[in-house]
Amino acid sequence: MRVFNFAAGPATLPLEVLEQAREELLDWQGSGMSVMEVSHRGKAFVACAEEAEAVLREILGVPASYKVLFLQGSATGQFAAVPMNLTTPESTVDYINTGAWSKKALGEAKRFCKVNVAADEAASNYSTVPEQGALKLTPGAAYVHYTSNETIGGVEFPYVPQTNGVPLVADMSSNILSRPMDVTKYGIVYASAQKNIGPSGLAVVIVREDLLGKARAAMPSILDYKDMAANGSMSNTPPTFGWYLSGLVFKWLKKNGGLKWIEERNRKKAQKLYDAIEGSSFYSNPVAKNCRSLMNVPFTLAKPDLDKQFCSEAKAAGLTNLEGHRSVGGMRASIYNAMPPEGVDALVAFMKEFERRHG
Ligand code: PMP
Repeated sequence: MRVFNFAAGPATLPLEVLEQAREELLDWQGSGMSVMEVSHRGKAFVACAEEAEAVLREILGVPASYKVLFLQGSATGQFAAVPMNLTTPESTVDYINTGAWSKKALGEAKRFCKVNVAADEAASNYSTVPEQGALKLTPGAAYVHYTSNETIGGVEFPYVPQTNGVPLVADMSSNILSRPMDVTKYGIVYASAQKNIGPSGLAVVIVREDLLGKARAAMPSILDYKDMAANGSMSNTPPTFGWYLSGLVFKWLKKNGGLKWIEERNRKKAQKLYDAIEGSSFYSNPVAKNCRSLMNVPFTLAKPDLDKQFCSEAKAAGLTNLEGHRSVGGMRASIYNAMPPEGVDALVAFMKEFERRHG
């Protein structure tokens, strides 16, 4: 039986996509093989890869002046690839620190260049985002980096930082494709696949062409954006199944109405859950109201000793992976694109019932 899976990633995928993958698993496009068994350089797979990119470009509105790359090493690989592609050891880069993933990204960048922390939300225990005016940006920085959605803290930027012409780099691992966006505001957007894109193992990187060719000489070619762009992300053998499945997810989004459709659905889902939390004194969410995430909703119980029971009873009711991140405890419901509204309805109903019995 399928459950409602609230995991933060790898996360739930659209049922229709999984069904299609099952349907064509043994005989993909009449090849008599699965997509995992065909050559990545064969006509059929190249067409499948190109179609995935084309649909992604269409739904996200990626201009022709940007390359779209499908890389390995996921977002953590990009924490290193971004500074290696854009800086020298003498360069200064600005990082906005809004929580666990920003911290990891800037920690990795420190291995390669000078990092200025343009804002650090430690004072609010990472429950806020800085205002534009509070950003201490370095004139002439090689880039400004931010995490558009903190997957652990449940903090999402309600605005796109302005950088005075310095390339803006965003880790959008946990909110890419959740709503329309203006790609032209960014130099680089990157995201791990395993939340809103497809299975784990891939990073999608969208990079403005003028930022190609600045990589260091001592650079692994599989992390070199220019090299990968020149080779259609196939300098090496790519994770073909993940690329194929990501393409099915992009087509699922397109077929249903694209990012406007999913934004409306995501807003309604998140609103229902936050309303349930706000409307009770038993549940609470620590995040400032202007930056509550549409994707990851952490919450705590008035009686934390019931956390385990909450999660185990929820699991018995078919609502799984609600445990908060090991670093923060409590609960977290990740409600990415593929979580159907019925999943959130079932969670809200369960929360009400749990409160009635234990509140
Ligand atoms: N950035 C964010 C915002 C994330 O949520 C994650 C994974 N949860 C990562 C980066 C790291 O992704 P990966 O483990 O795929 O490298």
